Amino acid sequence: MARYKTVIHWFRRDLRLSDNTALHHASKDSEQMVPVYIASDWKSDHHWTGPGRQAFLCGCLESLSNNVDHAGGRLIFRKGDQVEELRKLIHETEAEAVYLNCDPDPFGREAEKRVKEVCREIGIEYHDFQDVVLHGADEILTGSGNPYKVYTPYSNNWFDQEKPEGVEGVRTIHTPGSIGKGDLPRVGDWGMKFEGDLVREPGEKAARRRLKRAVEDVISDYSEMRNDPSADATSHLGADLRYGTLSPREVFHRAEEAFNASRSEANRKSIRTFQKQLAWREFFMAILHHYPEVLETDFNPGWRGLSWDDPGKGDSFERWKDGKTGFPIVDAGMRQLRESGYMHNRVRMITAMFLTKDLHIHWRHGEAHFMKYLLDGEIANNNGGWQWSAGTGADAAPYFRIQNPWTQSERWDPEGEYIKRWVPELEKVNPKRFSKPPENQGKLCADYVEPMVDHKTEREETLARFKKHKEG
Ligand SMILES: Cc1cc2nc3c(=O)[nH]c(=O)nc-3n(C[C@H](O)[C@H](O)[C@H](O)COP(=O)(O)OP(=O)(O)OC[C@H]3O[C@@H](n4cnc5c(N)ncnc54)[C@H](O)[C@@H]3O)c2cc1C
Repeated sequence: MARYKTVIHWFRRDLRLSDNTALHHASKDSEQMVPVYIASDWKSDHHWTGPGRQAFLCGCLESLSNNVDHAGGRLIFRKGDQVEELRKLIHETEAEAVYLNCDPDPFGREAEKRVKEVCREIGIEYHDFQDVVLHGADEILTGSGNPYKVYTPYSNNWFDQEKPEGVEGVRTIHTPGSIGKGDLPRVGDWGMKFEGDLVREPGEKAARRRLKRAVEDVISDYSEMRNDPSADATSHLGADLRYGTLSPREVFHRAEEAFNASRSEANRKSIRTFQKQLAWREFFMAILHHYPEVLETDFNPGWRGLSWDDPGKGDSFERWKDGKTGFPIVDAGMRQLRESGYMHNRVRMITAMFLTKDLHIHWRHGEAHFMKYLLDGEIANNNGGWQWSAGTGADAAPYFRIQNPWTQSERWDPEGEYIKRWVPELEKVNPKRFSKPPENQGKLCADYVEPMVDHKTEREETLARFKKHKEG
């Protein structure tokens, strides 16, 4: 006999029926389930998201709703303060328990605390589960029980831990007929407009196709190919991991099966490199868990108060955002971001270093711009990536290791394929010219802007600012 008659499963960043820990337990423990998604009710001025991401979210919800229908249930939609909406739903449904998967970010954790309190007040059970990560922030600690601040020992420890197995998918859901369904969220609900097509098809089925492609065609050559921005040689699973259309367990274990099936040492090594990206994800989530102040300030206290330029002064920041800096690799990345909601990892580093080290603009401004456009925008990873690039973060690039955007183009895009794809004005330019500043600081071609700064001069300026701050 089931433990409860009716329970609520609160969907958050776990928008799938397969291998979903809380949903699995909610289903096992109850006769009927009310699966709910509660949309936030902020309007377009939210600085941490944009139309593309909301469109992706809406697509995932539509697909989830269809999948719940298929299982015989109904996905209920509510909008507003999550905790208050849950409180109302508990009363409306007479649910005896609330099930949810924990969110590693501080806002999610705060909501969980409040929901737990509401359940206690009403006198019903509260069940939360770890699902978004393979290992929680408090599981991977140094020998003395402290959080790691450096990635390599963290990832070694992470890799040594036994990985949790997945849980069985939920195939049947009974939702009481009396509950009003509510409306599927639309981008317009947040006062935003999304035009064009999403570069990634949203939803669990599409995510599963991406995983299949990643396992069959990407991860065996990942080490060799992943740094080539012109090749389609990474998994593109970021948004799926963000919204939970795939579980990290499934991604890890499918890669592990490929590892076990492979006889090639090179391919096996490559698969391990891929799996270690999941450790980067959890490393930054653990950093955010233990040091939530990183959302406001530099992780390294030694770099707080460093001198930065005002992004509102002059047009530097706008030119960077628009992909009109005159540095082809930077412009290609910024245009890829704006046009597709994605940017290759190598180019994320180059554009982030350019903003912080060549234009001297604080990483927080770049971080917010990325969050506005990236479909895979994830506050922990984005913050980690930005602080890494700026030299202020956990295990960051040392401040004096400043990438030269010209030589970076030569190294990662020697034929200029990536650059020409995103900066069509440069179509006819010899790619060799992308690896150094144009002669006499002139133009690479008539339709393309001159480099807005001299990299060597700005590099010296950055070194001087960091040095001065360190000494004073
Ligand atoms: C400035 C900057 C900003 C970034 N912002 C984000 C962000 O908002 N969201 C995000 O998921 N990643 C971010 N990254 C990390 C990385 O660029 C993306 O995860 C990756 O490009 C996504 O493409 P993919 O899914 O094909 O990744 P793959 O290379 O196929 O990797 C598989 C998965 O591992 C994780 N991963 C890979 N690299 C990293 C990394 N360096 N740090 C953390 N997790 C990683 C992601 O979940 C990714 O989907 C950022 C990096 C930088 C330098």
